[in-house]
Amino acid sequence: MAKADDPGHWSVLITCEHAGHQVPAAFLRRMSKSQQKDLLTHKGWDPGALAMARHAAVALEAPLLYTKISRLLVDCNRSPQHPRCLGPAFRDLDPAERNFIQAAWYWPHRNAIEAEILRILQSGSSVLHLAMHSFTPVLDGERRTAEVGLLYDPARPWEKMWSDALLKEMKSEWPTWRLRRNYPYLGTSDGLTTWLRRHYGPQEYVGIEIEWNQALFTRNLPDARMKRGLVRSLRNLFLHFS
Ligand SMILES: [Zn+2]
Repeated sequence: MAKADDPGHWSVLITCEHAGHQVPAAFLRRMSKSQQKDLLTHKGWDPGALAMARHAAVALEAPLLYTKISRLLVDCNRSPQHPRCLGPAFRDLDPAERNFIQAAWYWPHRNAIEAEILRILQSGSSVLHLAMHSFTPVLDGERRTAEVGLLYDPARPWEKMWSDALLKEMKSEWPTWRLRRNYPYLGTSDGLTTWLRRHYGPQEYVGIEIEWNQALFTRNLPDARMKRGLVRSLRNLFLHFS
């Protein structure tokens, strides 16, 4: 049996890139009134995602790294050079100011994640990175047709295997839910996991984004059935996976 066939070989890291809608006051003032209003909507953050990330971290006794800085200031789930890494109010700033924003609120989260990945790899384990996100049920008038989406790179065999196993566990928890692969976005689009895949091999690093439909949450919190289902599916994942 290859080392990677043993679930115990994999060490879990949970992250949440859109956990909040904070913007420091000096930058908030530079946003338009409508941009400030957007902060509290799905445009500013991922409602419910941090609660799910916390439950996952407790269930698996895994480290959790998150940032509550709004993606309307800087989006930690974009590559540093991506045209939408900075929020719309800050894209035309001069490079020194853009670098300042990234140095203060982007790189600390990204660097903490890379440090944790290195720590896991140096301990001889591989990394199973679960990034918690949520999506708005309706975007540009179009209703999304899933409760949960798993975003991964199907060309990386271990990502496919872990995603298959997680989908199977989730299906048994929530048989009526629509669980979809690479929906509502592709796991290979620009993002944190895509960035990390470029730096770590397929046997070292698996990056799966778990996208929850925001319609599932009440006041941005999961109900007991969601919480229980998440905890059990993650624990069972390690029991059943082989
Ligand atoms: Zn997100």
